[in-house]
Amino acid sequence: MMTQNQISTANKISTYLMFIVLVVLGLSIVALVSAAYAYALGSEIAASFLLIIGVFAMGLSAAVLYQSRRRVVAMKIEVPKVMTTIECKKCSLKNIREYQRGDYVFKELDACPKCPDTKQLITAIYKEVKEKEKTYNV
Ligand SMILES: [Zn+2]
Repeated sequence: MMTQNQISTANKISTYLMFIVLVVLGLSIVALVSAAYAYALGSEIAASFLLIIGVFAMGLSAAVLYQSRRRVVAMKIEVPKVMTTIECKKCSLKNIREYQRGDYVFKELDACPKCPDTKQLITAIYKEVKEKEKTYNV
């Protein structure tokens, strides 16, 4: 389970990574443009050299970008939602909503929509685990 602090650190890393990727991508474009110029000027060896650098740098930045995107997707799945179950003591009308600050089990809430004289009670607070997301492999 990741804490809020770990998530923000990961976000900082990915911002830093994005900057590097953009720099490498920019350099690869410069290299490719230079390759075209070198070819136009008749120096084929320099052109092919720049072409290799350009293609390699572009491939590298694309690979890093793909990897970091996958990591972000995996991270989102690792943070399950916390849900709160609310029940009416009288008619046992069940309601599930996202956890709100200050929620605790057996806390009394507003009156039940069906029976105005009875207050709704928080009966459970739990982490939501989606089966579909659990099978995700990195
Ligand atoms: Zn009720």
